[in-house]
Amino acid sequence: MEPIRMVDLQRQYQRDRAAFDAAMAGVIESTAFIGGPVVKGFADRLSDYLDGAHVLPCANGTDALQIALMALDLKTDDEVVTVPFTFVSTVEVVALMGAKPVFVDVDPATFNMDVDQLEAAITPKTKAIIPVHLYGQACDMAPLMAIAKRHGLPVIEDTAQAIGAAYRFGDDRLEKLGTIGTIGTTSFYPTKNLGAWGDGGAICTRDAELARKIKLITNHGSDRKYYYDSIGVNSRLDGLQAAILDVKLQRLDQYNQRRREAADAYDRAFADLEGVTTPYRAPYAQHVFHQYTLTIADGKRDALRQHLAEQDIPTMIYYPVPLHLSSAYGAYGYQAGDFPVSEELAGAVLSLPMHSELDHEQLDHITQAVRGFYAL
Ligand SMILES: *Cc1c(COP(=O)(O)O)cnc(C)c1O
Repeated sequence: MEPIRMVDLQRQYQRDRAAFDAAMAGVIESTAFIGGPVVKGFADRLSDYLDGAHVLPCANGTDALQIALMALDLKTDDEVVTVPFTFVSTVEVVALMGAKPVFVDVDPATFNMDVDQLEAAITPKTKAIIPVHLYGQACDMAPLMAIAKRHGLPVIEDTAQAIGAAYRFGDDRLEKLGTIGTIGTTSFYPTKNLGAWGDGGAICTRDAELARKIKLITNHGSDRKYYYDSIGVNSRLDGLQAAILDVKLQRLDQYNQRRREAADAYDRAFADLEGVTTPYRAPYAQHVFHQYTLTIADGKRDALRQHLAEQDIPTMIYYPVPLHLSSAYGAYGYQAGDFPVSEELAGAVLSLPMHSELDHEQLDHITQAVRGFYAL
């Protein structure tokens, strides 16, 4: 059996090695290392994939979030509503802008923002809402967008874990995540569903004026060399990363389909295990399983993790500390007990290996090892 990895970039590379090698060689021959036709071509194809939304590439998913906030003219002392159960970037960028992150707890089944609690977090200082589509599953966007609209607030979708996933509206219309809110951001960190071979990110929007503003910001606030219209940053996607991403974008739906098949196999194997909750499949969400995350009852999570490690099965905890309890964010005055679901999940979630290259033998080994723990 091939060694089991959380994410198997080696096998993904070997499967399409000729295409990846040719893409890299093309950029090296052209020496268009920053900007150039390969970056433009990838942005155009990602725009097509996202049903025509404007796509502005940038250096990483964290920058994408910060640039989105800059484009919305976020000011010191403004408030941004988001969740404490996410990767740090979502909250970090709000703090870096001098604004205040205001948290809404997550739903224990979906791990995403509990939209029923959203309205209570909105104040006259609120300037934006950032839902995170955690683990590859859509946040409940229809009610969220209705609340945002009622309060005249822009929505930034953090789509770092959910590129290719979609939300189904009441009229059965499917819309790709990242294109529903005012702005969508994503990351091409190597382990993401659409991963580069280094850092990368993108911002998308259906608003042409915002797209123009975002493009300026990514390039030092300038569209004419050495003339500056706004304060910007340096955040670029490089040619080598764009070339790899272009190869993978063509295969993204196939990669996500293989992830769903692995998730189905896990679901079947764990359906009757007491104390193990498999990921809830929201009826409105087309899930892309960035992570396959179990909720483990009765405080057994760490023991299960140890049991799997002994059989060479890696697992991860996303995330062990909710951000309102991280020492870096202590200044905002939140306390233990403020967001009980996030706190509970931090002690109970366990993510199993999940990627496009898991084979039957590996899946059998993993599922038998989990079942073995409960048979002890
Ligand atoms: C990965 C990730 C980011 C940040 O992306 P980088 O490219 O690593 O900066 C932001 N938000 C979420 C939810 C992520 O998972």
